[in-house]
Amino acid sequence: MLYSETIKVTKTGTSKLKKLDFENIPLGRTFTDHMFICDYHDGTWNNPRVQPLEAIPTHPAAMALHYGQAIFEGMKATITDQNIPMLFRPDKNAARLNESARRMGMPDFPEDLFVEALKTLVEVEHKWIPPQEGSALYLRPFMYADEPFIGMRAATSFKFIVIASPAGPFFSKRIKLFAEKQYIRAATGGTGEAKAAGNYAAAIRPTEIAKGKGYDQVLWLDAVEHKYIQEVGTMNIFFKIDGKFITPKLDGSVLHGITRMSVIELLKHKGYEVTERLIALDEIAEASENGTLEEAFGTGTAVGIAYIQEIGTEKGTIYVSDESPVGLEINNTLSAIKTGKQKDIFNWMVKVE
Ligand code: PMP
Repeated sequence: MLYSETIKVTKTGTSKLKKLDFENIPLGRTFTDHMFICDYHDGTWNNPRVQPLEAIPTHPAAMALHYGQAIFEGMKATITDQNIPMLFRPDKNAARLNESARRMGMPDFPEDLFVEALKTLVEVEHKWIPPQEGSALYLRPFMYADEPFIGMRAATSFKFIVIASPAGPFFSKRIKLFAEKQYIRAATGGTGEAKAAGNYAAAIRPTEIAKGKGYDQVLWLDAVEHKYIQEVGTMNIFFKIDGKFITPKLDGSVLHGITRMSVIELLKHKGYEVTERLIALDEIAEASENGTLEEAFGTGTAVGIAYIQEIGTEKGTIYVSDESPVGLEINNTLSAIKTGKQKDIFNWMVKVE
């Protein structure tokens, strides 16, 4: 409990919790009563606190608004049958936030304070964690440059904030992907590995175009040849061909997904071979044609596992599968670990108590 003395907690007298219908939670629109906030200036992080959630006055010259020094994380708190809140691998989000920060010329946030901040906020808001299987309290840590300055250089003042939003159970339907060749998400040497806000802004238009054509998500291809698969929407991707799993290697353009990392460990534990390598879209088309493509799925914090039905390409549709038995098994294992129903043999869960 390194920072527990220094995180000041001020609670609200008027909770919004009684207005929440746990059976019908509007996704991404409901926020809990409090937030964690910490300010960076003069080279240090100061005044870590949990306080009532409120709007933050922003100077119109705040550098995040102009130059995009803004990064974020996404993670979930779940609750066990014994009412113990838990976080899934928060140290990995702490480390990834700092990798994003370094790429974007922003300061590191102390990793032990990151975990302590999340624990403190989740402890204050534990009644907001939806108890149903597959539900969670979504946590959104983020950092942005709030220094008012016009000019291209790293900012000298930042805010690190965590807000929380309850999320109901997610029912995965099988998704259809559109292999995008006109727009790219990331190039090696760019910012694809960082969870930088601008990456998501650039993905909005191509995603809307794909949705307009009847697809659910964009399948991102490499920036140079538009040949190799990177990831899908805001998920990493796995294919099962001839009994073995493959997933794109982390070549600098792919986000280091924490679900991806965990799924690799789970698959290997279940005895599957998993190879991280370059994967050409044509190779997937060929495997579909010759009948060796068994299943494919996306992995990410928001949905867990998203089963892939087909991929639309300029040469026609690649049919994947109507069922994803291994994906389903992995999804069930992950949610059972997250709700304490299955033994946490990998020591992934961090209890908030
Ligand atoms: N790729 C992108 C671009 C993402 O935004 C995310 C969500 N963070 C992922 C993959 C999956 O990462 P994780 O498993 O850590 O949620």
